[in-house]
Amino acid sequence: MKLIFLGPPGAGKGTLAAKAVEILGVPHISTGAIFRAAIAAKSPLGLKVKAIIDSGKLVDDGTTIELVKERLAQADAIKGYILDGFPRTIPQAEALAAFSKVEKVVNFDIPDISVVERLSGRLVCRACGTNFHALFQKPKKAGVCDACGGELYTREDDRQEAITKRLDVYRAQTAPLIDFYRAKGILADVDAQPAVDEVVAGFKAVMGLS
Ligand code: AMP
Repeated sequence: MKLIFLGPPGAGKGTLAAKAVEILGVPHISTGAIFRAAIAAKSPLGLKVKAIIDSGKLVDDGTTIELVKERLAQADAIKGYILDGFPRTIPQAEALAAFSKVEKVVNFDIPDISVVERLSGRLVCRACGTNFHALFQKPKKAGVCDACGGELYTREDDRQEAITKRLDVYRAQTAPLIDFYRAKGILADVDAQPAVDEVVAGFKAVMGLS
């Protein structure tokens, strides 16, 4: 199954993708996670994108499209994938259509107020990328990942200014993808507001898995 997860930052796409990987058995490909790994490794790509990502702006289409094209050519992604955070612009969606045939787009729907609430308390494991929340999903031990014992940190782009910027960017550049894919008849909406288990149930329902 070749799947796109669409929705604003903080909609829970990453959390849902981790669950969906177990259900569907295809890899979770997050462009944000690939960029963050490149930044951590101080690779040429990481050095190029760090300031852009920290400020909440988008990396240029050319760099991002090339990255995804290479990733989708790897053996584990041949049969299917969950793309999380890509495409984020119409040119990215058009480029993707030229090298892979997306079967379904799941649009995680959530109001801005909840996005701000979720992102401003989000904690991420430096080692395995698992997400926690300072209020809604506390780790058992403060600052430590339940899954792997790694250190939890606040992403630079989860600070207030960058959150506002990311929401503006989402509205202007990414939200038009909802109509783009709806017009192709492959988009399904899932309410991302409830607790994770309920969102998973909504996801299974639109996938015909429940
Ligand atoms: P995310 O983890 O999906 O919230 O992505 C974090 C940041 O990585 C975004 O705010 C962008 O700066 C960058 N990024 C991730 N995916 C893309 C994309 N498809 N196009 C451009 N920039 C991206």
